[in-house]
Amino acid sequence: MKLLAVLGNPIAHSKSPLMHNALYDRLGIDAIYTRRLIANGERLREDFDALGVAAANITVPFKEFAFAQADEVRGDAAAIGAVNTWVREDGRLIGYNTDSAGFWQAIAHFDTPTNALILGAGGTARAVAVGFAKARENGQVRGECIVLNRSADRLAFFADRGIKTASWDHLIDQPFDLIINTTSAGLKSDDLPLEVAALSRYLAAARYAVDVIYGRETPFLRLAHEMGKTVQDGEAMLVAQGALAHKLFFPDTSADFAAIARIMQTALRLPTQWR
Ligand code: NDP
Repeated sequence: MKLLAVLGNPIAHSKSPLMHNALYDRLGIDAIYTRRLIANGERLREDFDALGVAAANITVPFKEFAFAQADEVRGDAAAIGAVNTWVREDGRLIGYNTDSAGFWQAIAHFDTPTNALILGAGGTARAVAVGFAKARENGQVRGECIVLNRSADRLAFFADRGIKTASWDHLIDQPFDLIINTTSAGLKSDDLPLEVAALSRYLAAARYAVDVIYGRETPFLRLAHEMGKTVQDGEAMLVAQGALAHKLFFPDTSADFAAIARIMQTALRLPTQWR
């Protein structure tokens, strides 16, 4: 039996065990996926080794630690500087980032947004912004993306990679087709990710509003919905990053992405008493 886990702090709320265990159940995979509270990011790898798990997902606030402590990082993770998936390979620890592809996969059904405004400049914004270039190559989006953050401190990462940035002090006066909230505003508060007048102006010109937060209707999505926009919360991204991680955990799996994602999404939506 293979043991896997999600590591983070806090971790009790994580839906990853529910999604992955439902998949093992449905596909007859001999594995268990659990969760583990980690106290100290400096000791992430030691805790991972002590747990005896074959592979793991790493979540808030340890993705940078997971990046630093991997023996090798592959794919998007190198450019993002954050890892959410660890897999052992020939005794070495390989780090990947499935948040980036997961986000773009989750909105693949949108009708080619012409450009995007990313609100926030944290780890999730990095994953979304770094993935933008690939999404454009794939014809999924056009134009450019701009990262807009409350403070200017975290914008250097994006500017260094040629991604346009702005802060609340210097808003950009142009229309955006797709507005993405990657801030934690609305996660536990009733905050909007941007002052209401400016946000309403941006939303008025947009077709799509996406929030990476899931499990509640955020004030951002509520406002966008009231303004008649096509809205989507973070559940599909959660499922997509999990489905992509599964394919890294079990490379021999015969199930395709869509089949995996369907099982995970169904598990999330089952009423508690039937899980
Ligand atoms: P970080 O802590 O790295 O970044 C938080 C960002 O939010 C910063 O840019 C910060 O701005 C901004 N922010 C926080 N509060 C406010 C506010 N009140 N108003 C405006 N901006 C604010 O967080 P992460 O990127 O790791 O996570 C962000 C969100 O993404 C979380 O809610 C998390 O749950 C969600 N998430 C969802 C996933 C999914 O699969 N659906 C996957 C990963 C994350 P400043 O720099 O000025 O402080």
